[in-house]
Amino acid sequence: MKKYVLPVIILVVFEAVAVTLWLTKDNLFYLFNFSYIGISIFLGIILFIRKYKHARRIVQLLVGLYMLVYLGIISRENMQIEGFWYYLFTGVFEAATIHYAVAKIFGPLIFGRGWCGFACWTAMVLDFLPYKTPKQPRKKLGWIRYVTFAASLLFVAALFLTHTANIERIMFRAFLIGNILYYAVGIILAFAFKDNRAFCKYICPITVFLKPMSYFSLVRIKCDKDKCVDCGKCKKVCPMNVDMTDNSRKRLNGTECILCMECVKNCPKDAL
Ligand code: SF4
Ligand code: SF4
Ligand code: SF4
Repeated sequence: MKKYVLPVIILVVFEAVAVTLWLTKDNLFYLFNFSYIGISIFLGIILFIRKYKHARRIVQLLVGLYMLVYLGIISRENMQIEGFWYYLFTGVFEAATIHYAVAKIFGPLIFGRGWCGFACWTAMVLDFLPYKTPKQPRKKLGWIRYVTFAASLLFVAALFLTHTANIERIMFRAFLIGNILYYAVGIILAFAFKDNRAFCKYICPITVFLKPMSYFSLVRIKCDKDKCVDCGKCKKVCPMNVDMTDNSRKRLNGTECILCMECVKNCPKDAL
């Protein structure tokens, strides 16, 4: 039963958020939204525990498609980082600000970058590409994320400073164009660097939030040194170049871990 503690904790956290927001905002949507996401993640972890091969991909599709198609395209909510800035500037704690607070700013203190492994609609597509483990050494291009982060902030700030009309319509178009650009750049980089997650490592502006917060994550991969035989299989399958055999918080690329569990699945000694 011990192995089911984590999915239950995650479900309880999501339900707590769902009920709190439903009652405080008097909006039933929040109950549906966070319950749906929590149950999808719960289901995925249960499938993983039961060793179902495609468990993570199922959660990615359940949550990613829901957010991209239903929230983004049908409900016209910009859930990209521009949407976060937009709601922040308008001073409204709604949609993207709530999403960012839960999934990308405070949530990572508990579940690290679980968002990146299980829910992101950009990675949902990138993970179908052929380079599941990087075929080239990591590049020193992480600085680009600060440029894209600043660009997204400046773009939205400029709309407000210039008193642009129809900002909501612009935000919807920005969502569509932004996603097309993310997919295009992500796919090109994946093939150029032979690494499905190159976009996540170098370009994604959201990692400016995710990396520092996930440093303190409660949920993290740990190595049982008594069982480990230093075979190195875990590092070979890691899509994010993490040194998961080092238990310190300062492990190599520690804030890159997306909790995909590939290392755990491939360890011959059950040391992770
Ligand atoms: S790094 Fe960015 S693009 Fe990659 S999975 Fe995380 S949020 Fe999505
Ligand atoms: S795969 Fe397992 S045994 Fe091999 S190095 Fe990694 S943790 Fe150790
Ligand atoms: S393989 Fe292990 S260390 Fe690497 S990202 Fe996945 S869970 Fe994290």
